[in-house]
Amino acid sequence: MAHDYYEVLGVSRDVSPEELKRRYRQLARQFHPDVNKDDGAAERFKEINEAYSILSDPEKRSRYDHFGREAFQGYTPPSDLFEDLLSNLFGFTTAERASAQGQDGEDLLAQLDIDLLDSALGRTVEIDVERLEVCPDCQGSRAKAGTQPQRCSTCSGRGEVRYQQQSFFGTLVTRRPCPACHGQGQMIAQPCPACRGQGRVKTSQAVSVGLPPGIDTGHRLRIPGEGNAGLGGRPGDLYVDIRLKPHPQLQRSGDDLIYPLSASMVQAALGTPVTIPTLKGEEAFILPPGTQPGSEFRLKGKGMPRLRGRGQGDLVVRVQVVVPKKLSSRAQKLLQELAQELGEGNNQGKAEGLKEKIKGALGLE
Ligand SMILES: [Zn+2]
Ligand SMILES: [Zn+2]
Repeated sequence: MAHDYYEVLGVSRDVSPEELKRRYRQLARQFHPDVNKDDGAAERFKEINEAYSILSDPEKRSRYDHFGREAFQGYTPPSDLFEDLLSNLFGFTTAERASAQGQDGEDLLAQLDIDLLDSALGRTVEIDVERLEVCPDCQGSRAKAGTQPQRCSTCSGRGEVRYQQQSFFGTLVTRRPCPACHGQGQMIAQPCPACRGQGRVKTSQAVSVGLPPGIDTGHRLRIPGEGNAGLGGRPGDLYVDIRLKPHPQLQRSGDDLIYPLSASMVQAALGTPVTIPTLKGEEAFILPPGTQPGSEFRLKGKGMPRLRGRGQGDLVVRVQVVVPKKLSSRAQKLLQELAQELGEGNNQGKAEGLKEKIKGALGLE
């Protein structure tokens, strides 16, 4: 076996760092134990790594040039160096590998029904969320108290196994989650009874939701970190779908509020003081004389806050004039007098005649 590091890598003593790296990758691909099952390949691979870890470091290389291998008795190359260098070699990255061991929590979606005033005032409301928390008994280790998870022997704790296939292009290496440990990298002999070895337990948690003023049905809020807990990873987020409950008196129309006001025909004709419900309580309002059915009165700035802007919408009073369905004979007489006073003809006689004709035509009488 060659003992000179330059000879191990098959390069000259004045090799450039770029050439050294290129040569190392070439040899690593050739002798990596995942690919090369020949006798001695693993040993060769180890030596290639050791040689490269010395020669790629300018300070170590200079020491080696002066003192030779004697200067590196008992030296073991740092393993993370190869993780980085080999990550591109076989199509996996160290980041992916790390995620096989740390598991992020899932995002959750919840519905929240709020009142008009919750939205108008931008209140903070609480919502009960069913979510997974880290198991308090095993702190997420999944193992029964007093026991420890063991490193998976099938994948050596990596959480994944690699498969080789011969193909037209050469040896292809693919990786899959380890079937023995399901990608966890560890085996649990005695699972934690509290979480049945899952590492997380279901809980119900009250989460505060700060409502932006003016929020409406169909809006979705994101509350970071309030989803399911992770296991060695980040917690998920909570998404909240907003539904506005109907208000007994006010209807929302964008940033405006509509108040349907019922007035009798006399009130509409003569005008009357009324009270209007607003977001800040009841308010006096004068319905002016001669108000027409369907009239609208705008109370500026008394509507909903604009969600992504300044100020507020309006409160619109929409007038419905209610005509009485039944009249006492005295009320009829008064209205007939009113009609005469207003110069309207009395059409009652004609209407009666028409009714008789229709009944006759239909054979009802
Ligand atoms: Zn547990
Ligand atoms: Zn495994």
